[in-house]
Amino acid sequence: MDLEIKKDGTPKYKDVFQRASDFTHAREAKATGMFPYFREIQGVHGNKVICKGKELIMIGSNNYLGLAHDPRVIEASQAATKKYGAGCTGSRFLNGNMSIHEQLERELAVFLKRDAVMLHSTGFFVNLGTLSTLCDAGDYIICDRENHASIIDGCQFSRAKTVPFAHNCIKTLRRRLSHLPEEGGKLIVVDGVYSMSGDIANLPSIVQAAREFGARVYVDEAHALGVLGPNGEGTVAHFGLNKEVDLVMGTFSKSLGSMGGFIAGPEYVIDFLKHTTRCMMFTASLAPAVVGGVLKALELMQAEPERREQLWKNVKKMHEGFRSLGFKIGSTQSPVIPILVGSEVNAFRFSQALFDAGIFTTPAVYPAVKFGQAIVRTSYMATHTDSELNYVLETFRRIAKELGIFEDVAYTGGANSMRSTRYGGYDFKMFNAAGSVEVRTDTGAAVQI
Ligand code: PMP
Repeated sequence: MDLEIKKDGTPKYKDVFQRASDFTHAREAKATGMFPYFREIQGVHGNKVICKGKELIMIGSNNYLGLAHDPRVIEASQAATKKYGAGCTGSRFLNGNMSIHEQLERELAVFLKRDAVMLHSTGFFVNLGTLSTLCDAGDYIICDRENHASIIDGCQFSRAKTVPFAHNCIKTLRRRLSHLPEEGGKLIVVDGVYSMSGDIANLPSIVQAAREFGARVYVDEAHALGVLGPNGEGTVAHFGLNKEVDLVMGTFSKSLGSMGGFIAGPEYVIDFLKHTTRCMMFTASLAPAVVGGVLKALELMQAEPERREQLWKNVKKMHEGFRSLGFKIGSTQSPVIPILVGSEVNAFRFSQALFDAGIFTTPAVYPAVKFGQAIVRTSYMATHTDSELNYVLETFRRIAKELGIFEDVAYTGGANSMRSTRYGGYDFKMFNAAGSVEVRTDTGAAVQI
């Protein structure tokens, strides 16, 4: 459609596509040949993936227990498709409620020692749907600043007021709670394990504060399920706080190797959510292939605790390995290990060099992390072998040296007050300590970024 142009050459009508045509950062980043997102994976063999015909060790996935490619999980997924079909073609509420959905909800409730569970088609929908349905005007959602995007969006969708507190800082949490009116409903929402820093939420102190100030507690167990707790139940079980935490959510897209998610809690709350959550009522239910696979993965996760034991052996090796090489990995206590590389340019260059050396990682830049403190996010699996992990450590050491990572302001502690434009999604713009950088494209042309 050609929009009418006025005599002065400006468009007569405001075009909602303007924002899209002004958005050039991703294109510019691609021109440098270092664009690390939307990488096409052509095949998967255990811990290795094939990209551009090349085999790479995967240390950028959330497949913590290595169950996504387990033949028994794949077989169960195929069997469910044969029995129930390729899809449910409707929501749980109407025509898409199969026996396996009900079975998975029952099994999760027993596993997590919760009264009731409700499935969602994605983990993102769990947070979006639950928070926006449960909380309303006059309520307060008190949120850790590092909470996942789906929690932030859930807060925005609800009409409650969002009250952020400094990451894992109980002092600020208590201060925020102390300023809220007694009559407002309060829900504290935290990630059990934080997806970027790998930190574990300080749940004992959080539930203590919640009790004192009359708040409910909601924990996102996306990165803790299968990883923490006596049987992989998550952070809440790890701290023995099942009674003190009111609601837990989890995803099937990480340790359980598939997609989808759930919310678990008291029967009356889940019943209310089942009949009022638009994200669940107005979307198609999880495909049988997904549910069949998740049921099998849940069974294997409990029957094979050696997977979790091996995962923790690998995690310990990598925590110690990176630290002894001089890398800053923050305060991670989990399989998520962020490697601080400083500027956004460093993150893109580092990731590309790793790719060239046969290692698949994902960089995280502002606003996913603080500006000037870009990371290469790595995460580990039970199935990684010692030789793969040794190769990863040795390659990180070599590349950090070659790129002069340890001389970056992030390591030397120099001031870095740069700011970049904030987009709703990811910011692809690359910066170095001087504010911008000129990079050569594949054809040799200079691109100023
Ligand atoms: N919560 C957290 C903490 C997450 O990291 C994620 C996904 N990365 C989600 C929720 C959303 O889960 P899903 O990808 O299964 O939709």
